[in-house]
Amino acid sequence: MADKSTQWTSSPVDALRAAASPRVEDIDFTVTPGFSGSKSDGTALLAERGEVLAALQEKLYAHGRTGGNRSVLLVLQGMDTAGKGGMVKHVIGMVDPQGVDLASFGVPTQEEKQHHYLWRIRKALPRAGRIGVFDRSHYEDVLVVAVHDLVPRQVWEKRFDEINAFERELVDEGTVVVKVALFVSPEQQKKRLQERLDRPDKHWKYNPGDVTERGFLPQYRAAYQRVLDRTDVDHAPWFVVPADRKWYSRLAVTEILIDALEKLDLQWPTADFDVEHEKKRLAES
Ligand code: ADP
Repeated sequence: MADKSTQWTSSPVDALRAAASPRVEDIDFTVTPGFSGSKSDGTALLAERGEVLAALQEKLYAHGRTGGNRSVLLVLQGMDTAGKGGMVKHVIGMVDPQGVDLASFGVPTQEEKQHHYLWRIRKALPRAGRIGVFDRSHYEDVLVVAVHDLVPRQVWEKRFDEINAFERELVDEGTVVVKVALFVSPEQQKKRLQERLDRPDKHWKYNPGDVTERGFLPQYRAAYQRVLDRTDVDHAPWFVVPADRKWYSRLAVTEILIDALEKLDLQWPTADFDVEHEKKRLAES
């Protein structure tokens, strides 16, 4: 079989890094940066790479179970229908759920509102040996909050430095932080919302507020641009992922996660018992 990985003409980790990506207002949502293959190539490669991801995740889990402190945090941001839920189902779904700490963040509850915005985030951080996934995150506190003036500008302006320092702290404690912003075109978003309306089995996913938010697209673009400008740092990089083609965005995020796990350079824990002796005991039992 041909090595499908060669269809990556450049590493997605380089091709999608925010610093190398177009400005948000210039993003082409349909392109597949770094990947020259077709949809069927991409889908086949996703299955193959899923196995690599699962093996790396098992190693991380084993590391955590034997006292290691490393973890990975994947932050997923994107407007409604950008595919955050599908990413959890189809990418994170390829690994053992025991090793995943998943958290999603909606409108803060009464209790959450009484605390600092990072309070609920800190409580949801991945345990050692786990892949943590944030479906929305502390970035809502500089995105939706800025777009809708939920706090004054001078309050959210300070949050960028605070977020950088917070993520630095996570990294220093052993967490690899990777952040993915999924960008769907307004046309594709309309199609996906239309499908939710047309299919009774998708009505539960439809939120009338999503159509309202479409009216704030320019403000969201500006807010995302600020986030990328202020918080794409080497210790916690942002990846800008065009999301009109779901097969591509899922493949790209799989590669980004594989890269994060490979960078941990973990080894399988060595046995703390005498393997040969145990083999003998088992044979004799
Ligand atoms: P989703 O739309 O992702 O399926 P939910 O229906 O639970 O999930 O709602 C997410 C909503 O919560 C989004 O509109 C998001 O902007 C909003 N939200 C998340 N965090 C905050 C926050 N800190 N302040 C205000 N709104 C927030």
